[in-house]
Amino acid sequence: MTLQQRAEELDSHDPLAHYRHHFIGSDAPVSYLDGNSLGRPLKRTADDVAAFIRDDWGGRLIRGWDEHWLAMPQAIGDQLGRAVLGAAPGQTIIADSTTVVLYKLIRAALAAVASPDRNELVLDTENFPTDRYLVEGIALEEGLTLRWIQADPAAGVTVEQVREATGPRTAVVLLSQIAYRSGHLADLPAITAAVHDAGALVVWDLCHSAGSVEIGLDEAGVDFAAGCTYKYLNGGPGSPAFAYVNHRHLPSLNQPIWGWMGRKDAFEMAAGYEPAAGIRGFLSGTPAIFGMIAMKGTLDLVEEASMAAIREKSEKLTAFAVEVFDALLAPLGAELATPRDPARRGSHITVDHAEFTKATVEALWDGDVIPDFRAPHGIRVGLSPLSTSFREVLQGMEEMRNRLHA
Ligand SMILES: *Cc1c(COP(=O)(O)O)cnc(C)c1O
Repeated sequence: MTLQQRAEELDSHDPLAHYRHHFIGSDAPVSYLDGNSLGRPLKRTADDVAAFIRDDWGGRLIRGWDEHWLAMPQAIGDQLGRAVLGAAPGQTIIADSTTVVLYKLIRAALAAVASPDRNELVLDTENFPTDRYLVEGIALEEGLTLRWIQADPAAGVTVEQVREATGPRTAVVLLSQIAYRSGHLADLPAITAAVHDAGALVVWDLCHSAGSVEIGLDEAGVDFAAGCTYKYLNGGPGSPAFAYVNHRHLPSLNQPIWGWMGRKDAFEMAAGYEPAAGIRGFLSGTPAIFGMIAMKGTLDLVEEASMAAIREKSEKLTAFAVEVFDALLAPLGAELATPRDPARRGSHITVDHAEFTKATVEALWDGDVIPDFRAPHGIRVGLSPLSTSFREVLQGMEEMRNRLHA
């Protein structure tokens, strides 16, 4: 069977194939392999946003805040918790950007556990830049020590490495569930347990896992988590982030950016800051309503399709991408910088080749094949389970092959 026949067979047996038609642009001859950086918009989003402008913003004007909008960070947060995060209501809120939310969560966690004897922040060398910079800044602010885990760039942080790096001096551990470059899927439950064994708290960055893998935050007893909604959740460029705080921490913890929206009865506008009870206290300023409208469309789809089915398709997509890699790219000297075991990776793969440069990816973009470049020599192929087809994967990876010298 040719790869073309394989792709067609996989598409025709894909129980989620029909969802692709819910997305704008899915009929165009484009191979979109970057839904892990910016998800495609849903067709309904164009209508939802237009209706919002016309009826809600245009019709209700300032009354909209009291009628719906003020409740949206928690209402959409609860839906996200249920559909995607494995989180019971009251622990998730939509706010800010991932960078800002992570800052708030890390500082809240430190306030709970850090002491002169427990003054280390643990992170890994392969984490996303914003995560590394944030922790470097917080360590300076708070006079803390950083302990770096040297992660394998083609894999990721292991439970053994976390056990080795943590102990009585550890305050907080910050990790990504899926490594943004390699796609490695960390063992979230086991690592969370290891951090707790050391008496420390964990903050998980879920940017590449929200909407691509089943998460189970409550079941794993995770302390804190954050992530973005413009990747697999299709919230649109710069849509707000989410914050999860386990209910056991909510009564006692406080975040450091005291704004009026996080205050008990914001509109009292009274003297002095008193945090709102529960997850609402993790808000700071006025919520970004537009971005929540687009993500609502995806959350409805995810609830209908189920994360279990989405994860199953994601594993098949990455397995097919590895099959195409083995057939077309490995013989030309390319290397797979992603775990081969589907259970150990998320929804993208990275292919390294000395001939891959930024210019290679620019040329691919000009031909409507859209993966992204990851220095020094990687092309990242992102597969968004609700909108990517197997044919699209093959088409894009054939073009990658065509850029290499035989
Ligand atoms: C995309 C991404 C971010 C982005 O953070 P922003 O504040 O939205 O810019 C953070 N962490 C990880 C792991 C990411 O993949």
